[in-house]
Amino acid sequence: MSELFENPRIKQILVKYRRIWALHHASSLMGWDNDVNMPKMGVAARGAAQAEISAMIHELTTSRDFVDLVESVDEDSLNDYERGVIRVLKRGIRIATSLPKEHVMEMSKVSSEAVHYWAEARQKNDFSIFRDYLQKIVELNMKSAEYLGYDEHPYDALLDLYEEGYTTRDYQRIFDSIESRLTRLLDRIISSGKFPQRHTLEELRYEEENMKRVNTEILKLFSFPLGERSRMDVSAHPFTVSIGTRNDVRITTRYELVDFRRSLLATVHEFGHALYELQIDPRIDMSPIGGGVSSGIHESQSRFWENVIGRSREFSSLILPILRENLNLRDIDEDSLYRYFNMVRRDFIRTEADEVTYNLHILLRFKMEKMLIAGEITADEAPEKWNEEFEALLGIVPDTYSEGILQDIHWSMGAIGYFPTYTLGTLLAVQIGEHARRDLGNFSDLVSSGNFDPVKKYLEEKVHRYGGTYAPKELLRRSFGEDVDPEYYIRYLEKKYL
Ligand code: MG
Repeated sequence: MSELFENPRIKQILVKYRRIWALHHASSLMGWDNDVNMPKMGVAARGAAQAEISAMIHELTTSRDFVDLVESVDEDSLNDYERGVIRVLKRGIRIATSLPKEHVMEMSKVSSEAVHYWAEARQKNDFSIFRDYLQKIVELNMKSAEYLGYDEHPYDALLDLYEEGYTTRDYQRIFDSIESRLTRLLDRIISSGKFPQRHTLEELRYEEENMKRVNTEILKLFSFPLGERSRMDVSAHPFTVSIGTRNDVRITTRYELVDFRRSLLATVHEFGHALYELQIDPRIDMSPIGGGVSSGIHESQSRFWENVIGRSREFSSLILPILRENLNLRDIDEDSLYRYFNMVRRDFIRTEADEVTYNLHILLRFKMEKMLIAGEITADEAPEKWNEEFEALLGIVPDTYSEGILQDIHWSMGAIGYFPTYTLGTLLAVQIGEHARRDLGNFSDLVSSGNFDPVKKYLEEKVHRYGGTYAPKELLRRSFGEDVDPEYYIRYLEKKYL
């Protein structure tokens, strides 16, 4: 394997970057530990230490000599990987220098308090506890948008933070083309009764150790390198983290002791995130492009494994013996299992939504964020607007704030503009799945026989190996010859559910 970084300036930059990388490495490990291992009382000190590390990363990234070095590079003389390094670093420098230090500190102070009040508000079903914090967070995000700059809509500046290059207009185009088709499709699917709205397996209780064996067996089917380059632990909200290198990529799952598909699909989802990091070209490991490129592309990989593979009929038949052996599933056949994984129903909670309704939940959040950031509604008016839009999209109205506007943690953490990446990911998962079907030819056979190597190889070739080399749109254009196209998703749903 030849070296990918040859340009002497780039090599110089990478030497300097190593210190920033080491801080990211430490911070990722501390974050993982915080969510997996830490005793409760340690949280405050950990938060303070993390904030210091963030400040150090900020200082190194914006230091005069580092910025000068990055800006001195003649980009015409670079190869794609080297150009990717410069793109990623310049973007980081632009964001870090646009936002004044006091603003960043205020944002982090307000959101660390807001998370606490959000949790209390949700628990007591009392929106007024969170209302003023939401308003403050919206206003701080409006300020961020002004600092960062935008062409058309202040929301653009925020969306770009989570998905480089995607704007309000891009997402509007996506949602406009799916909104009415999804609501009609949902009506047709529910009235056809082909897919159940409830399933007896939802009530089935299990022991944690049995479910852990199921998850481990499934990860073995995927040849997940447990113990070698990865681990699986337990946390309240499942997540994946790469500890600064492709050789240490960790996932978590959860065990609620009932309704096992939640634990199973969460594990498969996180495996998809992990595989992306595990298959990045080793020659760009520990460099600025040595991680997944964006939230949306990352989510396309997790959703590929969760939805395209995990919710397929072939996968149900493949894993039925594992479930029979470890859980009490004697009376369940393959068809019943498949329907359990693919129930469709109108429900309030985004994280429990099925493939058909999921993007309607995100569309609601997109509409809300866009209005809040444009100042068209205030936090005070938000719950009523939420319920109104929810009814228009899903035909039901939540009885409580906890099942409505207070269900997600994102806004309380200061993140406005993140939700749309979930839709981008779900759509792209299907789109990439269709390309894989076409290019591999025998996709169904590969899944039903548990021969995942060609599928993994395909994702490695098309997406994973590049890490952050290409911005999302450029990656899609190069590997698939197109940008995100919602038609794939609509056709997939029609074919599967009707
Ligand atoms: Mg995810």
